[in-house]
Amino acid sequence: MGRPCWTHIIIHHTGAEEKDAAQVRRYHLSLGWRDTGYHYVIERDGRVVPGRDLSLPGAHCRAGGMNFRGIGIACIGNFENHPPLPLQEEALENLIRALRQQYGIPVEKVLGHKEVPGAATSCPGRFLELEQIRALLRQPPYHGSAYPLYRVQAGAFRERKNAEQLVQKLKKAGFPAFIVPPGTRVPR
Ligand SMILES: [Zn+2]
Repeated sequence: MGRPCWTHIIIHHTGAEEKDAAQVRRYHLSLGWRDTGYHYVIERDGRVVPGRDLSLPGAHCRAGGMNFRGIGIACIGNFENHPPLPLQEEALENLIRALRQQYGIPVEKVLGHKEVPGAATSCPGRFLELEQIRALLRQPPYHGSAYPLYRVQAGAFRERKNAEQLVQKLKKAGFPAFIVPPGTRVPR
């Protein structure tokens, strides 16, 4: 088993109506896995909960070798039965934007689980509109959110490496931190 090299982002639903990411983790641990199978789990209120560390291969999509190539993101819910909640969709979009920037992943390589050749699954469900997500990702980020969001800023730096150091610290503490590139408009 080699080290993972992230070239894709794979979108999942959990397919069950878990209460939160902790429940997903308990379930995966009960299967004998070392951690949550996904790298991120998005709860109903849009909270992004880190799953297994990105230094580890995932356990979310065997097809196409995607456990080693695809960052696994799962939204809680069964999107065969209902659409994702707006805050979840917004969090998904923002997380994918941050990961694409960090790993240089093109929009075409942001796939739903069922779109991976060889994957026999309906995941992430017929109500999660993958084409629409990719279309959104091709647009500049929309900051005039329809939902009031209270963002927490932890720092602003002239040197990128100082920003990266703070991101590392926050990630170690369990926060899904990312760098907002210069020139990005941030709501007041
Ligand atoms: Zn899946």
